[in-house]
Amino acid sequence: MFELPKLPYDYAALEPHIDARTMEIHHGKLHNGYTNNLNKAIEGTDLATKSIEEICANAGKHGAAVRNNGGGFFNHRLFWEVMSPNGGTPSTELNAAIMSNFGSMEELKTQFSAAAGTRFGSGWAWLVVHDGNLVVSSTPNQDNPLMDVADVKGTPILGLDVWEHAYYLNYQNRRPDYVAAFWNVINWTKVSELFASAV
Ligand code: MN
Repeated sequence: MFELPKLPYDYAALEPHIDARTMEIHHGKLHNGYTNNLNKAIEGTDLATKSIEEICANAGKHGAAVRNNGGGFFNHRLFWEVMSPNGGTPSTELNAAIMSNFGSMEELKTQFSAAAGTRFGSGWAWLVVHDGNLVVSSTPNQDNPLMDVADVKGTPILGLDVWEHAYYLNYQNRRPDYVAAFWNVINWTKVSELFASAV
């Protein structure tokens, strides 16, 4: 059985960039819902003994309930971890990879923000380790780069939820403002750890 992970900070910790009410609903109701619905979907099947990474890797072979709620469980768990009110800076190794793959932090930010801004409807923007390189991508709905159905496959080390539920209370339809604010709360210490594990 998967369990809703505890938030590593208070609901209000990311204000003013992400408001407490949005965090409370997003974690307590929505992520909780994905977790419960994933458990219901895998109960009594051979998926009940698999890791979430293994479930995602074969998402295209499972039904919509497993794909959507498995993705929802994994994506939000990563999302909470890659944000922090005290996010630090990228490690020397991650910084070198950003320079080598994008040329500058500004260019990474431009590409990531474009992926987040142009994802039509609901979905996610990602920074992915793909064949040892860093690439930016986006996925629809609750899909992610671990999934066999993803256009760009790899290990996600940074993810941004661009569903309206992630920003509408504070930003209404201004998704670009939310995406810009996200850069103030990225947990670079955690992203650097995920990068080190992925390469
Ligand atoms: Mn969400």
